[in-house]
Amino acid sequence: MNDIRTTPPRPADVATVFPQLAPLARPATRLHPRPGSPSPHDSSVGGPLLWPADEPWPYCEDESHGALADEWNEGPVAMVPVVQLYVRDVPLLRPPGQADLLQVLWCPFEHEPDYKPPTALFWRSAAEVTDILAAPPEPSAVEYDGYVPEPCVVAPEQITEYPNYLDLRRELQQQLDDRSRWQAAGVDNHYALAPHEFYWCELSVAPGWKVGGWPPWGLTDPVARFCAACGVGMVPLLTVASGEWDSSNHGWVPYEDQHLAALGTGDVANPPAVQVSRGNHLQLYVCPESPDHPHTDLIQ
Ligand SMILES: [Zn+2]
Ligand SMILES: [Zn+2]
Repeated sequence: MNDIRTTPPRPADVATVFPQLAPLARPATRLHPRPGSPSPHDSSVGGPLLWPADEPWPYCEDESHGALADEWNEGPVAMVPVVQLYVRDVPLLRPPGQADLLQVLWCPFEHEPDYKPPTALFWRSAAEVTDILAAPPEPSAVEYDGYVPEPCVVAPEQITEYPNYLDLRRELQQQLDDRSRWQAAGVDNHYALAPHEFYWCELSVAPGWKVGGWPPWGLTDPVARFCAACGVGMVPLLTVASGEWDSSNHGWVPYEDQHLAALGTGDVANPPAVQVSRGNHLQLYVCPESPDHPHTDLIQ
């Protein structure tokens, strides 16, 4: 972690205009992955993991790889590092016990029935890793390059998020779409045709890779996630994004990147070059009751 990224202040304090939103504020940590050469001792996206030399590397055992790529791939596929986060860099993480490091890997193939890459999540205590695996196995094939992140350092930044518009009650949605409410509060809502888009695009959910916060719905309506072990509602852990900005959300571009964003929205907006199901996001959820309960994920 050697850089700083600063999200500009939101153009309006939405919880002042709509006090019902105040209790729904959630902290999130934007990761801002940027090109670099992280070491196993750094938080990273697509970087080398602090992986114990004496611990087996995770492989995806699913049999459907053969159907997708039967000529050049048979058998289990070595999983690929997606993100490694030290709690010292992302205090928002809530690790179990003595753990202070989160590692997430995925299989670089989309799997049926929902065509997403299976993920594996590991918590560990960095101090317990004395011998680091020097040459982790690499997959013999991948679905496409967007499932092998380019190595990036991260610049964690804590922000506040509010629920995606689709997560709100109908009554509140209607208020957000009522121009007179914004005017009464003295807020310049420049989304002439649909005032709620000001909330959606600029005031609620940050784009890009992040820990915590609120999920970025839009591909589907919100779908609540419940723990398979205990039934409680699960909470967002990590958003893996296929880009950090596009034309709809330029207001979230950090000050430090605004010269880059002026160049466009292609590669510069997506340093890890990750493409989840060709342009969507992968959202990982965990059980708030126990880290031993299985995580889940979905494409958005
Ligand atoms: Zn697989
Ligand atoms: Zn649970």
